[in-house]
Amino acid sequence: MSIEKYIRDIQDFPKPGIVFKDITPLLADAEASKACLELLINGLKDKKIDKVVGAESRGFFFATLLAYRLGAGFVPVRKPKKLPFTTITATYELEYGTDTLEMHTDAIKKGDRVLIHDDVLATGGTAKAMCELVERLGGEIVQCNFLMELTFLNGREKIKQYDIFSPLKY
Ligand code: 5GP
Repeated sequence: MSIEKYIRDIQDFPKPGIVFKDITPLLADAEASKACLELLINGLKDKKIDKVVGAESRGFFFATLLAYRLGAGFVPVRKPKKLPFTTITATYELEYGTDTLEMHTDAIKKGDRVLIHDDVLATGGTAKAMCELVERLGGEIVQCNFLMELTFLNGREKIKQYDIFSPLKY
């Protein structure tokens, strides 16, 4: 099954000049979602993953499904002030300004084998911050896993020390 046709381009969202890859048609289709999960999980079943870390908010969908299928726990990484318990924080550069992500201090145990997941790898800032949070708590990154990669933004370069997997490339 080809899942590309379930991802639609939205012109000028969220800002003029940006073509946004919208995955809601994929999520709304049971067969396409299932096919997508099979693509993402390929090669991971024998990797002994302890935790799947997903980025707010579109990363949560497949991160939780991957966690369930891998027999791993799910850990949310969120925008500031959304998580209720004590957090650690990573700040990263955007084109204009900075952004911050948070994770609970007890979400990762030392030595945990971690899968990072997000829907899109764009500039790589989000993924790099997630890896930093996990490593500060002593986790080991097994793979950075994305549904798609916007290759022209070269996000790979920021996380090149890790194993990177993305079935769709634009
Ligand atoms: P980065 O930090 O790599 O520049 O951006 C990745 C983050 O932005 C991801 O959390 C992703 O959800 C979001 N993102 C950036 N561009 C797109 C896009 O075209 N489509 C979707 N669905 N998310 C995007």
